[in-house]
Amino acid sequence: MAAVTSVVEQYLARIESGCVPLHEGAVADYIPELASVDPDRFALSLVVHDGHIYSAGDTTTEFTIQSISKALTYALVLAEYGVQLVDSHIGVEPSGEAFNEVSVDTSSRHPRNPMINAGALTAAALLIRPETLPDRPTSREEWAPHLDAAFARILDFYSGCAGRRLSMDDAVYRSEMATGSRNRAIAYMLESFGVFPSHPQAAVDLYVRQCSIRVTTDDLAVIGSTFANGGVNPRTGRRMIEGDVVRRVLSVMTTCGMYDGAGDWVTTVGLPAKSGVGGGILAVLPGQLGIGVFSPRLDQHGNSVRGVRACRLLSDDLGLHMFTVARESRVTIRSVFDGREWEPSTRDRTAREAGFLRAHRDRIRVLQLQGDLTFSGVESVVRRVESLGDRADVVVFDMSRVGTVDEVSRRLLIGLMRLRAGDGTGWVVIDPDAALDPPDRHGTAAAPAPRDDRLDARVRIATSVPEATAAAEDLLLATAQL
Ligand code: GLN
Repeated sequence: MAAVTSVVEQYLARIESGCVPLHEGAVADYIPELASVDPDRFALSLVVHDGHIYSAGDTTTEFTIQSISKALTYALVLAEYGVQLVDSHIGVEPSGEAFNEVSVDTSSRHPRNPMINAGALTAAALLIRPETLPDRPTSREEWAPHLDAAFARILDFYSGCAGRRLSMDDAVYRSEMATGSRNRAIAYMLESFGVFPSHPQAAVDLYVRQCSIRVTTDDLAVIGSTFANGGVNPRTGRRMIEGDVVRRVLSVMTTCGMYDGAGDWVTTVGLPAKSGVGGGILAVLPGQLGIGVFSPRLDQHGNSVRGVRACRLLSDDLGLHMFTVARESRVTIRSVFDGREWEPSTRDRTAREAGFLRAHRDRIRVLQLQGDLTFSGVESVVRRVESLGDRADVVVFDMSRVGTVDEVSRRLLIGLMRLRAGDGTGWVVIDPDAALDPPDRHGTAAAPAPRDDRLDARVRIATSVPEATAAAEDLLLATAQL
């Protein structure tokens, strides 16, 4: 059965092979410890709406989350203090500048957004700010316990979103603390404007700790799917973030998450995303899936070169751009029933054949599909068929209520049918509008390509239920030794 899931995994493997030849870019070395990673690593994970994980590459490799943490800590401060207070400290406008630019809005003197370091340091400072103290703490003794408490909240929150206990990479933390003058400069500069809610050193320390949390691409994809799912982790069922906070964070990720490459990113990839100099990228297709990618070499913006390519390929090949307009992409399966619910066909049968069909009609399984078929919906169809195991000899797809079928969905369905036909399963597709035909390459809906060439003899195309019933019976009879 694993072979069936591999229809999706084959796709990920293809994307992996489209990325691995890329050797451009350089590993971040301004944090010395980051320079010691293997630059050739690559991993890719996808978590779909019900929490199922697909992955390719070195998915057990842990790396530090770095700036991807900015999106999470922003969500946490929004949850703890509310939009109003947070907005009075951090803007939501793209800066068009590098992530570590010493940048503030000139009139408000607030960081422009939470995805650049100035904004992320302010979010960290807010988290340390003890509500009960009238003034911000000034000495290390005063702020140290608040710092530890804030980090414990961060770690709990990130872990809850990832669905497993995460931990910090001490070597990366110490390495950045030893070299992070730039972040100290930003925090002190904000303090000099009188707009910084905590002690600059405390904020830098907390921010560097959060950046040093170790994750895998599976973790990133699960976190992404928690966002995609409106704030509920689909693997644990736990609500981690309120819906309005999710919407806010995804909006800011869309406009600011990929730094100065944001416009190009939104047009070509079209997924809210956040990258980190550890080589990770987290991307979200709202309502559908979470994506985690990892590869350490970075482009001039500090985004993983292969990570960007992987997201681009995923978006193109799997049709994941968030502004792709489709109907009913998630609830693709309208109903599932077995062949006993259909009237027997009027075709002539011998007594033995009729007897066999009567006894075994339940081995025909009908899946009625509906709406426009896109990756997410068809992925659940593939898994639904997989879950039938060997309880069905003939599977019928009723596509009469299907609108358009995108390229990846067409290929996934045909791939699934070919694979299972090879294992002996018979297929009938009720496809009156030739939705499974690729109009661009093999004719048009009006002049369809000859269908029987495409699939082998175990796959029949029908245009109506009676025609499909007869074809399903024929295929079922072919499995019998009569
Ligand atoms: N810790 C890093 C820094 O502040 C994170 C930067 C990033 O991932 N873009 O420099």
